[in-house]
Amino acid sequence: MPAKIIDGKRMALEILARLKRQIAPLSPKPCLAIVLVGDNPASVLYTQKKHEACKMVGMESRNIRLAASASQDEVVSAVRKLNADKGVHGILVQLPLPWHIDENAVLSEIAPEKDVDGFHPENMGRLALGLPCTAPCTPKGIVRMLKESGVRLEGKNAVVIGRSRIVGKPLALMLLNENCTVTVCHSKTRRLGEITKRADIVCVAVGKPNTLVGRMLKKGAVVVDAGTNRVGGRLVGDADFDSVAKKASLATPVPGGVGPMTIAMLIENALDCYRKITRRQ
Ligand code: NAP
Repeated sequence: MPAKIIDGKRMALEILARLKRQIAPLSPKPCLAIVLVGDNPASVLYTQKKHEACKMVGMESRNIRLAASASQDEVVSAVRKLNADKGVHGILVQLPLPWHIDENAVLSEIAPEKDVDGFHPENMGRLALGLPCTAPCTPKGIVRMLKESGVRLEGKNAVVIGRSRIVGKPLALMLLNENCTVTVCHSKTRRLGEITKRADIVCVAVGKPNTLVGRMLKKGAVVVDAGTNRVGGRLVGDADFDSVAKKASLATPVPGGVGPMTIAMLIENALDCYRKITRRQ
């Protein structure tokens, strides 16, 4: 039987509708500041989508644009200004930053309580320790999708392909916190297919089409594809959907899978940051 599709778009719309109802009575409204450095077309598009999502749920958003030539000090100073601004409850610095800017240094400047992406070392450290934290949006969305789809995580063999700060590494930690037995694979991993074949759950976040194909899976595995690649004007994931769908029991599509859930988790994180900040004021 072909795999059932995990409809991330529908799940995300339901979450956004719930968040909208929660935001409606709030005053002042939560405000998310999005810092975009340069004009990388993909980053421009992603930030537009994030502003649109804020608007859709009744959250305010601020668009902070800096030239691609902005210095590290200028970016850091923009972040510090937002940290001090009582009208801003969440800060997101769109990645990647231009090559001459040290991403770690900039992300470490974001006040941890306004760090909606969860990339600050304090939030990442808390995640690693299994403590309450703001968790990165894409992996948080992946775990939510799995749970909402009725996938029991405890005791499962999960393989995460990719070890980036944005997806792979935090996802591995989250699955570990959910009591999965986790294997992390990367560009130096040997015999990837032998490893994935033993997995109950395979999550792929690499940025290369066909990294995962059906013959690399055991029958009935669950597959989550975070990849987004443009191939001949079409958006495709990192998994070959047709062959994967023949082997898997559940699979996420691209588009309409992980992407929409990432945005929903961003809004959820921004609302959580707002609540924590306003409770303290
Ligand atoms: P990244 O920072 O470039 O990391 C890619 C990871 O894949 C690295 O850990 C790399 O290993 C590993 N890798 C590369 N080639 C491999 C191979 N042949 N076999 C196994 N592992 C390999 O990418 P990212 O930021 O995590 O993004 C990954 C994909 O997810 C991209 O397509 C991106 O667009 C997408 N993404 C989607 C969303 C969403 O909301 N849908 C959000 C974020 C990212 P090394 O560490 O050894 O180099």
